[in-house]
Amino acid sequence: MVLVLHPPPGRDGMTTVFKFGGASIKDADAIRHLGDLLRQLGTRPDVVVVSAMGKTTNALEALLAAARGSDEDDYRQQLAALRSDHLATVEALFSSHNNAVGERVEALLNDLDACHRQYRDDERARHYDQTIGYGELLSTTIVSAWFNEIGLVCDWHDACRLIITDANHQAANVDWAETSQRLQALASGRMVITQGFIGASTDGVSTTLGREGSDFSAAIIAHCLDADEVVIWKDVPGLFNADPRRFDNARQLMKLSYDEAIELAWLGAKVIHPKTLAPLRKRHIPLKVRSFETPDAPPSVISQHGDDDPTPACILAEEQVLLKIQPRDFSFMDEVRQHEVFGRLVDAGLHANLIDGGAMRLSLCLDAHPARLEPFVEQLTADYVLTRHDDLTLLSVRHPTQALLASLSADREILAERRNTQTAQRLFRTEECPETWHIPE
Ligand code: ASP
Ligand code: MG
Repeated sequence: MVLVLHPPPGRDGMTTVFKFGGASIKDADAIRHLGDLLRQLGTRPDVVVVSAMGKTTNALEALLAAARGSDEDDYRQQLAALRSDHLATVEALFSSHNNAVGERVEALLNDLDACHRQYRDDERARHYDQTIGYGELLSTTIVSAWFNEIGLVCDWHDACRLIITDANHQAANVDWAETSQRLQALASGRMVITQGFIGASTDGVSTTLGREGSDFSAAIIAHCLDADEVVIWKDVPGLFNADPRRFDNARQLMKLSYDEAIELAWLGAKVIHPKTLAPLRKRHIPLKVRSFETPDAPPSVISQHGDDDPTPACILAEEQVLLKIQPRDFSFMDEVRQHEVFGRLVDAGLHANLIDGGAMRLSLCLDAHPARLEPFVEQLTADYVLTRHDDLTLLSVRHPTQALLASLSADREILAERRNTQTAQRLFRTEECPETWHIPE
């Protein structure tokens, strides 16, 4: 049986999970704005999931590298910068009578420093997971204190006690039964605030869910509470049929099915963390994407009801490499050979963004991820003749028409292509692509 969190007074019995990303809490002004936004909304969420402030997670990754290196001064300077950034936010928010928040921030940073000392000689992935989640611990400490300060009563919870996972560091797998039990036991009637991105194994060792994993945290919580909806608050009014920074006529997508959203994410649209949708789809929990800058604007909604007449959507992936792979012994690129190449691809941690095959050749379009790609290429060279093209742009189009594709490819050589009933992909030289694209109407 699923125990729904007791709704706060004035609520209509709906269970709602909100997620706020780094941009929405990047400094004191942003946090104030967030508090005002929650106060103005008619209904309060039951759970608020928060990421690290601004670019803190990147700073923590740099700190990790410094902690594992030999330059102690560099490490100290980076730690001091994190400390002063967070304390500046605390000072801007709270009057001096409330220095308990500052003390908690200091204590967390001292713990972080101790963790780096404890794990610096340990395996990197484990060290990573013991330290990178401090961004979320710091942000939720500050944000929850601010909410309470302005009368938005909430309880801070440590996600390491709620989101239970295996010990697969940096991409931990959720223990759904245990996590459900922990979350359902939370029923308090007060708004809960907790960290995205982090969890812990049953023996209490911290884990992370993968970069940008806070959306997934919100979905896990919603699934386990059988929530009525999840709202992801962003600095854009919703999801778009193309990146508005690259396409001059990108449009908001108002209604998407889970399947369509997953397809778009798979093709590289930076819509929603791809893992997020499966737990929501299983329980038919709609996901809304709303803007914290213009909260009155209509949101994009992902649910089991898609648009009957789907809008074409365009996704660009840059810094692509095309590898044409041919067996050295002139044998066919049959299933055995393909199986062998894909096995190596998996071992290298690479994903093929486009696959195109012929009798004696397999073409793969891959991200130019040097640390992964170069060893893969080097290893293949022993058994295969490789032809390589660098600096490419992959255009993926959902629901393309022939005219649309022709117009988007005009005057450009197509280096590789793949098409099925719903999706077309074409690979171009980046130097032949425009800075700003236009989707023909
Ligand atoms: N703070 C983490 C990251 O930047 C998780 C998230 O923001 O979703 O990757
Ligand atoms: Mg973030």
